[in-house]
Amino acid sequence: MTAARIPVYTEPMADEALASWLCRLASMLGMSAHTFVRHAFGIDSRGDAHWWRRPSREHLATIGQKTGVSAKRLGHMTLAGWSSARSDERQGRWSAHYVHQPSVKQPNDRFIAVCPRCLAEDKHAYIRRSWMIGWLAACPRHRSVLTSRCPACAKDLRIGDLSSRDAIVLHGCHRCGAPWSRFTPRSAIQPAIELQEQLLNLKRHGAGDLPGIGPVDWGTLTVIADLISAAVWEDTADHRRERLFSRIVCDLGMQADERLLIKWQSNYGTLLILAWAIPDWPTRLEQMLGDLRALSVASLLELLPEVDTADRQRLPSLLGSACGYQRQASDLEHWREWLDAMVASGMDFRARARRMFHQGYYDRLGVFARLAEGDSIEQAAAGVGLKPATVEGWIETAMTYGIHMVIEKALRLNQLTPQQVSDIRQWLTRADVNLTNRNGWRADHARHEIARQFGINVSVGAVQLLLPS
Ligand SMILES: [Zn+2]
Ligand SMILES: [Zn+2]
Repeated sequence: MTAARIPVYTEPMADEALASWLCRLASMLGMSAHTFVRHAFGIDSRGDAHWWRRPSREHLATIGQKTGVSAKRLGHMTLAGWSSARSDERQGRWSAHYVHQPSVKQPNDRFIAVCPRCLAEDKHAYIRRSWMIGWLAACPRHRSVLTSRCPACAKDLRIGDLSSRDAIVLHGCHRCGAPWSRFTPRSAIQPAIELQEQLLNLKRHGAGDLPGIGPVDWGTLTVIADLISAAVWEDTADHRRERLFSRIVCDLGMQADERLLIKWQSNYGTLLILAWAIPDWPTRLEQMLGDLRALSVASLLELLPEVDTADRQRLPSLLGSACGYQRQASDLEHWREWLDAMVASGMDFRARARRMFHQGYYDRLGVFARLAEGDSIEQAAAGVGLKPATVEGWIETAMTYGIHMVIEKALRLNQLTPQQVSDIRQWLTRADVNLTNRNGWRADHARHEIARQFGINVSVGAVQLLLPS
């Protein structure tokens, strides 16, 4: 290898990732990034495509000699000196998907979330260093949520990395070619953008003061973020999560129907929950755990990977009163008042049970009749040989989405009017970010939300036909 300069040059752009710049140089030479980096600098990226994040002094010196860019300037294109903890830079790090499967390795990690507005404005599209921090959720410049999925082909966005043997595509979707200008990102709210800025500072410096929480180091903050994510997604009921999301949307001053447009399973969802919880910490954390009927803090911590002893010792003082939270076996409140009011307005469960004997809802109506006549949940459940938890589930569903969801036969698709089909389809398409995601709504969740929105009880089969494919 000689010290001669490589035959092409392009200026690194503002906040450009070193990997992005190397890929652009490679494409000017018509080479894959992997081949270019190996030939030009003698660096083999096959074993570690992410070496550029914290490169060795020797690698920076070599790249500097061959390109004429100072090592200092090159260093600013990396994450050298930035704190990193518990794989926080992995793409989609704060997504619900990660909570469910933290151990799944994505060695190439080529998925990415981008700001399509930034890219559409670029003369030559390039990847920002900040997007390579896997939990980043919003573009502060455009005040928009980063996009991780192509609106045209609905696939996760991918870019190559330094181990790629193919040319890197940066002008639009790698798969279908849709240009960035076709992407319309959703707006991000100010409190989320501000918190993201504070968190980036914390990561940059390793530790600092986070308003609401106080002095905290970056590693501990990643445990807090994971704890919140796990509390929401691990072993919680759909309607409890939706109730929490309603509360957050309302407290953060958004319109109520934004609950359905926010991709709660994404990095941005977690950032929003943090932006809601942290300013009134730990009161809101405690409230959230109770509302979700989440697992206890100790159980949640057991689920998280790479939590060290020091973090476990530090957490109690940071979580305060929330540490004492215990999951209640049941926290059904006010159900008797609710049931009494229904009976007072003319509901006669016994009479309905007699009429619906052959329709499979006899047991349910019988249980509600017993409850209405004064039985406890345990007594009513024992009367038909069911567990009290099953009856509690019916009551919760009925109180949240309407009694008809529990005691009436669900409608098949051909029993809906054409207008109902069209209205529901349109509404589901609008909320489709939630429906197509791996951790999005299941059919049962969707039929409950349809009941809430339209007051119609549709069958699981009908929902499957109504969902956008
Ligand atoms: Zn942007
Ligand atoms: Zn596409």
